[in-house]
Amino acid sequence: MSGARDDRNRGAVMSVIVQSAKAFILKELIGGMWLTLKYFFRPKVTLNYPFEKGVLSPRFRGEHALRRYPTGEERCIACKLCEAICPAQAITIEAEPRADGLRRTTRYDIDMTKCIYCGYCEESCPVDAIVEGPNFEFATETREELMYDKEKLLANGDRWENEIAMRLKAEAPYR
Ligand code: SF4
Ligand code: SF4
Repeated sequence: MSGARDDRNRGAVMSVIVQSAKAFILKELIGGMWLTLKYFFRPKVTLNYPFEKGVLSPRFRGEHALRRYPTGEERCIACKLCEAICPAQAITIEAEPRADGLRRTTRYDIDMTKCIYCGYCEESCPVDAIVEGPNFEFATETREELMYDKEKLLANGDRWENEIAMRLKAEAPYR
């Protein structure tokens, strides 16, 4: 019994000596500085955001936009499928026939504070009118700024049409 106790005591003393020696020669500090030096000369993996931006997946679901045809005509035919499918009930549409007999929305609002970016509105749209574009930089200072109306959504569509069209084309085989 006393032999085992002596071994334990010797082990404890050795451990204290080793820890003290490591502290004395600043082993952790030198190890940390060596690691820093090793990575200092390696290529940087961080981005200088917002001046540099990472690659976005074509399936990225960002800020919403309403698209137009190349003629400038609105794509949306006011079928209200997006409004019906939206699980957050974020979309509000009102519609009536235009003077030329075509049915178009008179109101298309999205409450972006309710939106959960599920993409169902885009999936349900038969004419690729409502889409989620590549823009993720639309933080605001007030909630009111996140109440999007038709004018804002169409402006988003005009602004991002090239990127959105490329994304839809890339995704077309999988839809
Ligand atoms: S992304 Fe989803 S939650 Fe947001 S508006 Fe579309 S359907 Fe509604
Ligand atoms: S955006 Fe598409 S789904 Fe929604 S009302 Fe217009 S045509 Fe229908």
